[in-house]
Amino acid sequence: MNEAWNDFTHEHGPGIQGRREILKSAAAVFAAPMLAGVAEGAQSPQHASAAAKGPFPARAYGVAGAKAPFAPMRIERRALRPNDVLIDILYCGICHSDIHIARGEWGTSRFPCVPGHEIIGRVQAVGSSVTKFKAGDMAGVGCIIDSCGVCENCQADLEQYCVKGWTLVFNTPDRVSGGLNFGGYSDKLVVAEHYGIRIPPGADLAATAPLLCAGITTFSPLQHWKVGANQRVGVAGLGGLGHLAVKLAVARGADVTVFTTSPGKVDDARRLGARAAVQWGDAEAMKRLENQLDLIISTVPKGYSIQPFVNLLKVDGTFVNVGALDDLEPLSGRALISRRRNVAGSVIGGIAETQQVIDYCAARNIKADIELIRPDQISQAYDRVVNKDVRYRFVIDMSSSKEAA
Ligand code: NAP
Ligand code: ZN
Repeated sequence: MNEAWNDFTHEHGPGIQGRREILKSAAAVFAAPMLAGVAEGAQSPQHASAAAKGPFPARAYGVAGAKAPFAPMRIERRALRPNDVLIDILYCGICHSDIHIARGEWGTSRFPCVPGHEIIGRVQAVGSSVTKFKAGDMAGVGCIIDSCGVCENCQADLEQYCVKGWTLVFNTPDRVSGGLNFGGYSDKLVVAEHYGIRIPPGADLAATAPLLCAGITTFSPLQHWKVGANQRVGVAGLGGLGHLAVKLAVARGADVTVFTTSPGKVDDARRLGARAAVQWGDAEAMKRLENQLDLIISTVPKGYSIQPFVNLLKVDGTFVNVGALDDLEPLSGRALISRRRNVAGSVIGGIAETQQVIDYCAARNIKADIELIRPDQISQAYDRVVNKDVRYRFVIDMSSSKEAA
């Protein structure tokens, strides 16, 4: 994500001037006055008068550096532009990508860093030309909050492959004003309406938030490779993405096999709807599965030897990596040629497809298995995710930040 997952060109990159802006903006974070609430006019039921006049302070949880613990901080949100909405954040999921960036593992981090890209909240105010939302609506925001809008990929609703590079909701300069942006571990967010996702009435908000990244990231390959009933799908890594991959593939009638390094998750895999769960390194099971699978979605967050998994693909089968940015080990040309096998990658999904997964899941009551935490538990939650000890997504209850921060 951001430069790491983006074919990020300099059109959206900070440049020298932009970098100065980021530094200024970062300084402003700490200089922001410690006001108790948001800008007065932003409370307006319809249009955001005061929030439209200038940047306003918000509460957030972030890190000052790659080794720093999470701490409350004050940030600024931009003044509402005519097509912006102001969202009062209720819940934000914790994705492993937040961890990679907050801990500086991708080499693209900028500090202070306020992660969070599985955001759900209530629209508090809207800019003068907004038509998609009105005050009081529930809205979601995932990874993408801007893209060029005119390239062939944006035109095809594939903003995640914008040729000029899309803007991640945090850790990235704002394309208009240049300042570093901040994500959903916060009480407020300002975002252009196009990048807001409508949340259907009655949705379980906390358990729906993870669909905005983990859900769309696993839904998109199932759509792209047209997975249907009776096809065989493998899911490697049973974490936040992996458990939703299982639920979404099962919902399509696929026959799902989970590959896990955690013996304790075998029963869970079946409870989630998988037919089988194979422990990493079970050579016999891997042998039995050779040439059997149509699609494998790998959510493993690090590079590893994928050859044993590629060997499980049948003719025209595809191994799709969504987890690791690292190099994947060399592959046998023979293994690819002999079964016309494909090795692919995929990043999140466009805005239209994100709306689609939200609506699809609402109609089928598909949601994430979550553990709700307070903002002061984020650092511990990060350690637990890295230790594969989350069942299966932490979601921060941001309403508790209102007392804590
Ligand atoms: P997660 O909750 O930590 O799940 C990852 C799972 O992978 C773990 O629970 C574990 O499952 C397995 N695993 C195998 N080897 C591991 C290792 N060495 N360290 C940690 N876990 C290991 O993470 P997530 O939020 O699902 O994200 C997974 C990866 O996808 C991350 O790298 C994230 O950055 C990336 N991501 C990509 C996209 C995209 O658009 N392509 C979107 C979101 C996230 P078992 O216990 O079952 O082995
Ligand atoms: Zn994510």
